[in-house]
Amino acid sequence: MTAVSSTANTESHASVLHENRVFPPSAAYLAQTTLNADTFAQLKREADLDLDAFWSHRARELLTWEKPFTQGLDETQAPFYQWFADGTLNVSFNCLDRHLGTQPDKVALIAEADDGSAEYITYQTLYERVCLFANGLKSLGVVAGDRVIIYMPMVANAVVAMQACARLGAIHSVVFGGFSSKSLAERIIDAEAKVVITANIGYRGGKPIELKKTVDEAVAQSNNLVEHVVVWARDQTETIMQARDIWWHDLTAQQTTDCPPVWVSAEHPLFILYTSGSTGKPKGVQHSSAGYLLGALQSFKWTFDQQPNDVFWCTADVGWITGHSYVAYGPLAAGATQVVFEGVPTFPDASRFWQMIEKHKVSIFYTAPTAIRSLIKLGADLPAKHDLSSLRLLGSVGEPINPEAWIWYYNVVGGGRCPIVDTWWQTETGSQMLTPLPGAVATKPGSCAFPLPGLSINILDEALHPTAPREAGTLVIERPFPSMVRTLWRDPERFKTAYFPEEFGGRYVAGDSAMRDEDGYFWILGRTDDVLNVSGHRLGTMEIESALVANPLVAEAAVVGRPDEVTGEAVVAFVTLKGERPTGDAALEMIKTLKAFVGQEIGAIARPADIRFSDALPKTRSGKIMRRLLRSIARGDAITQDISTLENPAIIKQLQEG
Ligand code: ATP
Ligand code: MG
Repeated sequence: MTAVSSTANTESHASVLHENRVFPPSAAYLAQTTLNADTFAQLKREADLDLDAFWSHRARELLTWEKPFTQGLDETQAPFYQWFADGTLNVSFNCLDRHLGTQPDKVALIAEADDGSAEYITYQTLYERVCLFANGLKSLGVVAGDRVIIYMPMVANAVVAMQACARLGAIHSVVFGGFSSKSLAERIIDAEAKVVITANIGYRGGKPIELKKTVDEAVAQSNNLVEHVVVWARDQTETIMQARDIWWHDLTAQQTTDCPPVWVSAEHPLFILYTSGSTGKPKGVQHSSAGYLLGALQSFKWTFDQQPNDVFWCTADVGWITGHSYVAYGPLAAGATQVVFEGVPTFPDASRFWQMIEKHKVSIFYTAPTAIRSLIKLGADLPAKHDLSSLRLLGSVGEPINPEAWIWYYNVVGGGRCPIVDTWWQTETGSQMLTPLPGAVATKPGSCAFPLPGLSINILDEALHPTAPREAGTLVIERPFPSMVRTLWRDPERFKTAYFPEEFGGRYVAGDSAMRDEDGYFWILGRTDDVLNVSGHRLGTMEIESALVANPLVAEAAVVGRPDEVTGEAVVAFVTLKGERPTGDAALEMIKTLKAFVGQEIGAIARPADIRFSDALPKTRSGKIMRRLLRSIARGDAITQDISTLENPAIIKQLQEG
């Protein structure tokens, strides 16, 4: 592959490829961290020496086993790798029971509702609630291996439901509460779910979400697969109950708080989670019990440098992998205190996150670039009005974070004292893969820094050689690791072809394009399909988007390619401004300004051929920009993609006309 961009402006701060600001951990951070560069150098050496022994050591140290395993990695069925396969354990036992002896009264969940009311749930109480509910599920005939769909608001009982399934060895599949009945029905059918757990209603940003009604529609489309629907009464909203429906409170009324965990093998599936669908039909990613939990717990401890008095807040919904690994499992296995938030960052106004950080004295805050960009657009000055001094560490996940958004997050939210861990990983990897380690690594805005210990991640060209510094290539994971996807639910063939294509010789191919700089830092450039080829120059969409976002007028940008007779591909940019959407002459003027700006920041080669403005960009329910859809729009193709998961379908027309 050729260099990503040859006409670089080295003065530029905007382009990710030439971002040269470096932020070593502050003295304040170093004074209180428990981890340092030496700890990690030692861990890396240990992993390089013997990968199997390295992970086996961690699995013995961090997890509580019913029956200890005798073998770590088993590669005989590659790429269907197994870890610790002859050991047995229970995930819920590891998240709850084992803390009861040492810290029963420590708060596990601070659950804040949409309306601002908060509930404090200790480890003892959470354990009892999980046992009660698990016994309820058992009374409905749920046994190990059964599939249970969870379609809940982002409340404590969503976590209770997941943990209760884990306690019984039932395989949960959480579906984000914003999905339509059609999407829900597809997942019920694919997973062949026996039970659906929902709430009569949910609230987001003051608006009711009719979860039960959606479940009724979905179950009606699901070939009579579902035997029971359990309904949590979120409030008194009148609800039509059918013969198969049972209230959560009725189900648990007669149960005891004693529910012995069902011991399962390390490889027993803990859950199936359908991917976001940014690039196509969602895949039913199947995760294991032990390997998955080890990845979630170990990465939580390393990346977030967990300390006993931390208040952790990951803003992801449990409908996404981030809400699995860094809400439902990792922090609980680590015995941490965490915030669970039902609402949205912009209700009642765009200071909600900052208010909550102040109120709950959050010390570690983990959110997504989409939230950061929208909060910059709606109130860049609001963080300063709150006491955010409890924060010591910030995190980002889900999409590349544009350097300018990073700088705002660092200075305005973090007060220049908190390292930012920009964590690259996927539903399929189960836990974080690339991230700076706070205290051990200087950060660079827009870079995910390095692989965590025990992971061998590489960037290869088409000949399978590691790319030279600043050359784009394909991100691959060379060796198996405990938390990796085990298969796609009922589709092992797609699993092999999607992630282990023959031309990559057995390596896991992530589908993302990336590069390393001279210091070895990793930079994610976008999805492999998103890298553009303009007149023989390979341009990462991320690079051009970040240049656009560096312009003070721009809130968000998405870049895609359109076939072009002369240049091969032409750059098309979809832009949302911080102010009003321009029209007529004002739009033409703005287009000229932005084209010149990109030309200056990156070089003439990257200048968009076409720029369109809209009030918002099309995003998946998890907040990711849907470039696949934008590509069709840029090409003027009819839209054939499933847009049912779009958060804001109305803006498609604006983009087409723009
Ligand atoms: P689908 O696989 O169905 O298209 P998806 O890839 O969006 O959906 P996820 O598993 O939720 O589903 O997202 C993982 C992807 O998100 C990564 O492959 C990468 O493209 C992007 N991503 C996540 N974190 C980061 C990050 N810190 N920096 C850059 N990209 C990131
Ligand atoms: Mg993906």
